[in-house]
Amino acid sequence: MMSQQQANLTRIRQLERIARRLEPSPEEWDELGDKVLDYAYSFIRGMPTGRAYTFGSRSGAGLLASPVTEAGMPVDNVLALLKRHVDTVGVNPGSGRFLGYIPGGSIPVSAFGDFLGAVFNRYSGMFFSSPGAVRMENMMLRWMAAMVGYPAVAGGYLASGGSLANMSAIVTAREAHDIGCAEVPNVVVYLTKHTHHCVDKALRIVGLKECVLRRIPVDDQFRMSATGLEQAIEKDKAQGLRPWLVVASAGSTDTGTIDPLRDIHEITTTHGLWNHVDGAYGAFFVLCPEGAPVLDGIGLSDSLVLDPHKTLFMPYGSGALLVRDKELLARAHGGRGAYFQDIVGHPTELSPAYVSPELTRHFRALRMWLPLKVLGLTPFRAALSEKIRLARHFYEELSKTPGFEVGPYPDLSIVTYRYRPARGDANAFNRELIRRVLQDGRIFISSTLLDDMVVLRMAVVCFRTHLSDIDVALEVLREFSAELAAT
Ligand SMILES: *Cc1c(COP(=O)(O)O)cnc(C)c1O
Repeated sequence: MMSQQQANLTRIRQLERIARRLEPSPEEWDELGDKVLDYAYSFIRGMPTGRAYTFGSRSGAGLLASPVTEAGMPVDNVLALLKRHVDTVGVNPGSGRFLGYIPGGSIPVSAFGDFLGAVFNRYSGMFFSSPGAVRMENMMLRWMAAMVGYPAVAGGYLASGGSLANMSAIVTAREAHDIGCAEVPNVVVYLTKHTHHCVDKALRIVGLKECVLRRIPVDDQFRMSATGLEQAIEKDKAQGLRPWLVVASAGSTDTGTIDPLRDIHEITTTHGLWNHVDGAYGAFFVLCPEGAPVLDGIGLSDSLVLDPHKTLFMPYGSGALLVRDKELLARAHGGRGAYFQDIVGHPTELSPAYVSPELTRHFRALRMWLPLKVLGLTPFRAALSEKIRLARHFYEELSKTPGFEVGPYPDLSIVTYRYRPARGDANAFNRELIRRVLQDGRIFISSTLLDDMVVLRMAVVCFRTHLSDIDVALEVLREFSAELAAT
């Protein structure tokens, strides 16, 4: 009779044979690698002629017809499912004619960084476990800090996106100003109606929903009025409230507008407020000569959010927070478990786990470092200049097109516009116009509401968007507006 221990060993060996399937053999590596790369490459090759948006009956539900089972499936079949139900349905943000929301497609070199990061799976949370990964992340943060003019004592971390980074900035500002529960109803946050909604969401999530929100009026370019801000602060002070935080936009999502960053800095310094700048869309435009002047003052803020998955063209899941004084960031996010007792830190290289809400996390720096090292900065600067100039070109062309009216001259790469029909309701007309454009699918655009007006938006953010794509967009808009106006 087998002893219990022998039976256990036999079972372990059986299990091992099965569990080893998790590690591909060299032949499986070759096959998988070839098939996945072929798939990726054919996807990219199809982009110039493919649709920016697929409207139709397929909605990914076919995936559900192929449930997860005990036995696997050949990779070809799995990739076919992916293609049919995911990669050809809905919005294609990698298309050069994706001109709607902000985050566009990701540069392929970055995807290779992600691939390598996932293979190594280095733990980037602590210096102790991967000094190289932590140095790489901090190097990326220092690069961004120098880019915007932050001092050497600045710190930060790579977040999953702008929403989380904004939330962390708010928490840092809350701790820096020592705001306890009892004080929440007395503290005041200043923003505008164009501030990204993730700020409202973050305030609510972090327990600050009772604080006072002051939406400062905007000028005709949708910029926060500096005088309006100062008056509001003085009035609140006189009423015994505690002005705490200003959230300025360095490129608002709706209109691409930049608030008067230098004036806001002066006001927050005079009155002792935390000056946070949300540059999730716009901050990287400091890399190009068209963007840098309009972003003047961005580096004077106390904290700043940037989104590499927007204007640095990285894959989704790449945000960044910079805080002028890294001690304040650490104070708001620090924490250690007893099981970290063996871990020794580094005196100057901050470990992301101690300055962010996350512990085990994606090795985000690699998807940013690899393309910056391989490609250099020049093509990034060129792409950003190109996007601003394409937006200006679109603006000029559309303002010459009968029937269309354009919003403010673009600060960055977003243009707002609408069609003014000779008769009938303009809002209904523009809603129908966008519906037809999306149904056609050659281009993807979006709309927003500005003072109850339906306004169309052109956001030039995808790195694949070039002059020929803007020309297609103009052609599509002219075609469908004329067709609609004639009915
Ligand atoms: C996109 C955006 C956000 C939100 O960032 P996510 O990365 O989508 O979470 C915040 N603010 C601005 C100005 C944005 O454009």
